[in-house]
Parts: sequence; structure tokens; C-alpha cells
Amino acid sequence: MKPNDSIEVVKNIGRTRADELKKLGIETVEDLIEYYPRDYEDRSSYVPVGEAEAGKINTIRGRVAASPDARRMRTMTVVSAGIADKSGTIECVWFNQPYVKNQLTAGREYSFTGKVVEKYGRLQMESPDYEPVNENSLNTGRIVPIYTVPKKMSQKVIRGCIKNAMDSVEGTLEEYMPNRIVKKHNLCDRAFAVRNIHFPESDSAFFKARRRLVFDELLFLQLHLLELKGNICGKKSNIAINKYNDKEIRKQLGFELTRSQEKVLCEIKADFKTGSVMNRLIQGDVGSGKTALAMIAAYIVISNGYQAVLMAPTDVLANQHFKSFIEVFEPLGIKCELLTSGLRKKERDRVYDNIATGCAKMIIGTHALIQDRVEYNNLGLVITDEQHRFGVRQREMLSNKGDEPHVLVMTATPIPRTLALILYGDLDISIIDELPPGRKKVDTFSVDHSYYQRLYAFIKKEVSKGRQAYIICPMIEENDKTELRSVLNYTEELDRNILPELRVSCVHGKMKNDEKQIIMEEFEKGNIDVLVSTTVIEVGINVPNASLMIIENAERFGLSTLHQLRGRVGRGSEKSYCVLVSDAKSKVAKERMSIMCKTNDGFVISEKDLKLRGPGDFFGTRQHGLPEMKIANLYKDIEILKEVQGTAIDLYNHDRELNSVENSLLKAKIFNIFTTKIKKICL
Ligand code: ADP
Ligand code: MG
Repeated sequence: MKPNDSIEVVKNIGRTRADELKKLGIETVEDLIEYYPRDYEDRSSYVPVGEAEAGKINTIRGRVAASPDARRMRTMTVVSAGIADKSGTIECVWFNQPYVKNQLTAGREYSFTGKVVEKYGRLQMESPDYEPVNENSLNTGRIVPIYTVPKKMSQKVIRGCIKNAMDSVEGTLEEYMPNRIVKKHNLCDRAFAVRNIHFPESDSAFFKARRRLVFDELLFLQLHLLELKGNICGKKSNIAINKYNDKEIRKQLGFELTRSQEKVLCEIKADFKTGSVMNRLIQGDVGSGKTALAMIAAYIVISNGYQAVLMAPTDVLANQHFKSFIEVFEPLGIKCELLTSGLRKKERDRVYDNIATGCAKMIIGTHALIQDRVEYNNLGLVITDEQHRFGVRQREMLSNKGDEPHVLVMTATPIPRTLALILYGDLDISIIDELPPGRKKVDTFSVDHSYYQRLYAFIKKEVSKGRQAYIICPMIEENDKTELRSVLNYTEELDRNILPELRVSCVHGKMKNDEKQIIMEEFEKGNIDVLVSTTVIEVGINVPNASLMIIENAERFGLSTLHQLRGRVGRGSEKSYCVLVSDAKSKVAKERMSIMCKTNDGFVISEKDLKLRGPGDFFGTRQHGLPEMKIANLYKDIEILKEVQGTAIDLYNHDRELNSVENSLLKAKIFNIFTTKIKKICL
């Protein structure tokens, strides 16, 4: 049998089971043996029958005293068998599994793992897994794997299937990893790793196995990303940038760039000069001046006769960007246009025309920018403002609207460099690691709901000084009507009863775009004192006069989101405050609040966030078009990741296409993963 045979060749897998497994993306024998456990249960130590304990999951070993008994109780069949060893006896019962009766032979010894319960003053073991003793046990008397299973399949069945699949390729499972790498990194061989990840012989065998498989998975990913990057970065650019004069726009911006900004600008200009397509990520904390740099880059490209486009994740943010670009660009005679899905047809057609004729030089918008209907005249630069919201594919779709335009990606969630290499492995990375001068730290406090009266007094005080405030209410489901209603009710309550002398309004995700826009404008003009909002304002909003942010149920937000939200205040010359309101008592929740109160450094915060949440939901790897990790954990396995990155770069530099004999099996493996699997995920 071969690893790429269909799973139906495996013993005990018929059509029905094969169909169930296919739902998990398991089609071949190799897929099945690479379907790793999500957890393990230690069933390795036996408890004497007489010492079984109610409420615990125990593993026992004993003889079946007499032929099992099967009874019908109302609608249920109950099979029961007495199990005995020297220390005592216990009754095992199975519900609606009549076949058990015929599988247990009186007098034979079996091991059983199951939950012990007390019934009518006696101990029983309920629906235990069982196996004859002295056979290769899979379900009892060992460390037992737990899989994510389809509804109709039991753990026992999938364990059996995986064991059979492993047996079927025993001795034929290829070692694709070049021997040199296996030796250098002290990896165990592949067959050992696969066997021990499913059915570990010992703790140490398990750790060796896991390390090997994590190494492999991260290496495949890193090599794939290097290849993507190589393909993109090597690409010759047809955008000819000859003029680099940015004096006018600097004057227009009206401030000196920070040293960090200057450094990143140099990197951008150097990219333009190489004659290859730029693919650069700018990482920098909220307010570090990424947008200002994007403006300069766009200005340069536009002065060379091309169009530039900026895509933002939300309408509100696109509008905001549009305003800041107009302020800087229109005095320089550069025509800006805004394209969002909220535009009326007539206006939209006008914008389409202006983009197509090249009359519009700077185009700003949302996903509407990548729709089929949009045709650019001569796109030279694509900028995306991401905050983890676009995937590789959306970026690509925008790029494909031009003839290999340069690409600049901005993100305000600083992440450790090693991780950035994975998540943005296809981009070169620039970091802005300083804030413009004169920024004041936002004082942050964490309180519970008993502080309400004082909070309201605080709002009144800030407003009386001419400032404005945000109140953020989390909505977990944007479609949850009850949550929305409670936000609306709360706003009304504030407006009518609690803060009657203040002007209170609300903005939320269910509003029409132009409604949202009107409220945002009123807030910017200072015609609203207190803006109650769901997270629509999370990204990018810039109202310098707002000096107070109150975040309700703050425990519901991730740290990075809290940091983003807090970044909405402290943008003007006034002292600003952020109050996190939370009644959550858990240790993690408290720790998160305390981190927020202690630091304003986005880098530190994102690192802590990773530690507390794990990278899974943090990055949304799916959104990045990366395959889901089967076993590696990007945060916990950071040490292995570092080893892998060295190896990957080394391999890439010496044998970029992996064409040498030594690397050929590795190449085939990677090809197999990324051509068959990743396509499914991306498309
Ligand atoms: P980001 O996009 O990183 O959040 P922005 O580019 O929007 O940051 O900058 C935030 C604010 O700081 C804007 O009002 C911008 O005009 C201002 N700003 C940017 N760079 C500087 C600088 N070097 N000196 C002073 N102010 C700056
Ligand atoms: Mg910004």
C-alpha cells in the first residue's frame, strides 16, 4: 500500500467511514496518518478494581465474570458485565451498544477505561472503552490520543482506522527530510514521529515526535513563503520611478518626519530604485505616522505619472483617510477620489470614470476598489491599511488591477519579528519604532461597575473643559439584535436621564454608511459630546479633541483591540484618559486589564496578548491565506520556529528550487501540501 492511496484501501474503512473522513479533508492514507490528535488522555496506570473511585475516569484490568447480560429498559438496551480482579468486582454497563455482549467473553481478561459512578450505593463503570489484555492496546492502558472526529465516528473507531493506516504503510513511509537537516537539528525520523504522535511509547518519545513534526510543518510553511516572496520580489517592475523630490509634500504635511519615519522612507525609495516590484510591510504602533509615510510614497509615485490607491477595511476609515489625503494632496493639485460601496449609483459611475481616465490620481476606498467594474488607468502603487483584515488574496486582487504595481501594507499591530516573518513572509518588513514628539501617554484605569457615578462625573468634567468622549460597547455578534438594542437603550438612557445636559449620539455597525458618516462628521465638528459606539470606530479614527475613552465590558476585547481603541484618544495636545470597565473576576481578565493600565507600548501589548490568547484567533491565519497549522503553535513553538527560519533561508539560498537529489522528496512533499491544500483554503 502506498501513502497516496485512497483511504478506502485501509482495513475497516468502507465507503461510509471514508465519506465521514473526507469531511475532515482526509482523502489519502497519508492524510490520515497526518491527522494528529488534538489532545491526549493518560490511561496508562491501572487502578485495582477494588479502588475504583466514583466521579473519576479510571482504567482497570480484570476478568469478565460471566457472559454479559443484555436487557431492554424502555427504549434502551443495556449490556452489563461484572469485572473482577483480586481486589474486588465492579459492574460495567453500556447503553444502546448491544453488540458489546458478543464482544466480551466470560473468563477472559480485558482492560477498561471509563467513568466510575455510584448507582444505588454501588459503583459502576459507564460505557467504558475496552480491549483484550496482551494485545497492542489502543484505547486503554496507555496514553490515548483524542481526535477531532466527525459526529458519526467514535474515538475508538478513528483510533483503529489510524492504527490500520499506519500498519498499512509500515516500512514504506518515506523520509523526505534531507539527512543533513535531520542530523543537524537532532530530529527523530519520520516514521518514529508519526507513530509516537498518535500512540506515544513514553513521554520522551512523544516530545521528540512532536518536535520533529512541528519542525516539519513550520519548515514547509517558511519555504513556501520564501518562494512566494521570491516570486513576487524578484519580479521586474514596469513602474518607472525617476523623480524622488518630496519637498512639496513635506512642506504640506507641516512636520518633520521622525528618525524612524525617515529610515522607512529611505527603504521605500530604495525599493523603487531596484527596478523590482516593492512588497513592503510597515509595522508601527497606532499614531506612529504610517499614513503620513504612505502619503509621501503615493506622492512620489503620482509625481512620476501614475495612480496610487489606498484600501481600508471599513467605510468609516476610508472616509477618514480620504479627508486627510484631500487636505494634503489637493493643495498640491492632486485629484483624490473616494470609492466605497455606500456611494449612490450616479456618484459611483462618476468615480469609476475618473479612475479609468486617470483624472483621479489618488484613490481611496474599501473592498469596493477590487470589484470587477473598477478599471484603473495606470496603477503604480497599492497601499492597504490592514489591521489584520485583508488576506493575501485581496491584496493580490487589487495588485492585479495594475501592471505589477508596487505594494505597501500598513499594520498597526506590532508583532515579534519572527512571527512577522511567517505571517507576512511574502513581504519585506519596515518598522516605525518611535512616536512623533510630544505625544502624551494615555492614562488608563480599570474599574468595575460600582464606579458609574464617578465615571459620569468624569465625563461631565471633560466635556465642561470643551473635550469629547467615546463610550465603547462591545457587540460580539454584529447581528445580535438584543445586544444592539441594549446599546441603543443605553444611549437613550444617557441622553435623556444620565447626561441630559450633554449631546449624546450612537454609531454602530448596523447603520447605513451615510448615517454613520453623518454622525462621525458631527462628532468631528464637536457637535456631539459623547459618542456611544460599537467597535466600528476601532480603526484609524482621528478626532484630536476627544480626550476620554470609556470601554464597557472591556474583558470581552482582546488586548490588541483595546490598544487600538485607546489609540483613538491622546491624539491632541490635551491629557487623555482611558477607563476600562469590567466586572470580570478571572485571573486572566484581571491580568489583561492590568497590562493595559501599565503600558502604552503596542509591541509589549501584542506580545502579552499572544501569550494570553495564543496566536490562533489573534492572527486569524485563515485570513492570511495560510494553511491552518496541524500541530505547530506559532507562539509556543517560537524556539523551533527560529531554528526553522535559519534552515529555510539556508536551503533557499543554496538550492532555491529544491532541485538537488537530496532535496527532491522534500520538494515533492511541499508541493503536495501547498498545491492541493492551500488552494482549497484560499479560494
Ligand atoms: P498611523 O497611520 O501610524 O496611525 P498617522 O500617519 O495617521 O499614524 O499619524 C497620526 C497623527 O500624527 C496624524 O495626525 C499625523 O499628521 C501626525 N504625524 C505623523 N507623523 C508625524 C511627525 N513626524 N511629527 C508630528 N506629527 C506627525
Ligand atoms: Mg492609522
